[in-house]
Amino acid sequence: MDRPLKTFFIRTYGCQMNELDTEIMAGQLIKKGLSPIQDEDSADLLIFNTCSIRDLAERKVMGKLGLIGRGSKKNVVIGLTGCMAMAKKNNLFQKFPHLDFVIGTNNITDLGHVIDEVLSTRRQVMKTDELFEENLDYLATRRESKVKAHVSIIRGCDKFCTYCVVPYTRGSEVSRPPESILEECRSLVDQGYKEVTLLGQNVNSYGKDQPEWNCRFHDLLARLDAIQGLERIRFLTSHPVDITIELMQALRDLPKLCQFVHFPLQAGSSRILKKMHRIYTAEEYFEKVDQLRSIVPNVSLGTDIIVGFPTETDEDFEATYEAMKKIRFSLAFIFAYSARKGTPAQRWKDDVPEPVKEARLQRLLELQDQISSDEQHQMLGKTYEVLVERFNKDGRMLKGRTRCWKKVILEGPSQLIGTLQQVHIHSFSHQTLLGKVVQ
Ligand code: SF4
Repeated sequence: MDRPLKTFFIRTYGCQMNELDTEIMAGQLIKKGLSPIQDEDSADLLIFNTCSIRDLAERKVMGKLGLIGRGSKKNVVIGLTGCMAMAKKNNLFQKFPHLDFVIGTNNITDLGHVIDEVLSTRRQVMKTDELFEENLDYLATRRESKVKAHVSIIRGCDKFCTYCVVPYTRGSEVSRPPESILEECRSLVDQGYKEVTLLGQNVNSYGKDQPEWNCRFHDLLARLDAIQGLERIRFLTSHPVDITIELMQALRDLPKLCQFVHFPLQAGSSRILKKMHRIYTAEEYFEKVDQLRSIVPNVSLGTDIIVGFPTETDEDFEATYEAMKKIRFSLAFIFAYSARKGTPAQRWKDDVPEPVKEARLQRLLELQDQISSDEQHQMLGKTYEVLVERFNKDGRMLKGRTRCWKKVILEGPSQLIGTLQQVHIHSFSHQTLLGKVVQ
């Protein structure tokens, strides 16, 4: 690259944590004088913010980088960030000699320096620290939405589920100081934001690594709930073991906290849960759901499920099916197991045949479709508070969400964007409710 960088494009793969990291990196680049553009092919700087959770996500990035290598992007700086950077490290430079830099999940604060180094030395640069240092410039974050914002509160994970790469790609849990989170949320409210979603691989662990702060997750929620002008607080994601009574009480008592909890079950068989190192049994999980529902009767639950984990028998699978039937989640992300490099589960034989995994997956998807459709039927004719977020993809109707995270499409002028409306639900189509503002 023999001219100054003026424009950038970041392609993001994977979870909300990655989307937020992209927004944080975009903020740093704008501060450095670059402008974001929508056309990936014209950007001076191209970054792939990658994900290693599933094999497919990795293959997509490898394919894309391979194509670029064969193309004519000689005058472009190309970088790779995110989980693949941590999982593959030096192999990336060997495989893709046209890659200019690789930055791990714990080094996004170094983005500016790394780009300067690439430009001045014309060498490939890699930064992949194992530990995260809490020194990001959150206030510069450049967000797409003007209504709702993701806010990072803890990075990393200490749970080590046997199928998951996150503890290896994102490192140990590091909580962000409460004052820094409060400062960012107050600044968001000043800019007109109405909703924040607190993000972390396991937000319920918040503060455990910093006992001297005396601020656990429910304490942080109470402090955020007191911010004038903030309308809604959500959080993602939770580990069932860390969902405490205090958190359940916060869900009942804090008016801004939305009553939706992502409560990943993963499997309904205690034998499989043990093999996954989920550190709870199916019975303990059910007890916790009962306890939560008795304290917060209107709570909605979401979950993640893996089918076809090594050694999963028909009986184990039926336990998962029955668990989903019994709990009736509002939302479920269901996946067929695929081994991830570097995880303990990768050492075990992936012994459930693909057609069996696929059949199990389809059965659960059909069950969940039925449960969601029943739930939507029950919402018909009722009125719900909706935060109007933006125009829907068609550009005519508006899109928003209820407190329990149901998507609602409604008619109305653009002035409704960023406001809370009472919306009467009159019909639904697949996962979307259709409604009308109640005057
Ligand atoms: S709790 Fe388990 S599945 Fe979730 S990020 Fe940590 S190791 Fe991965």
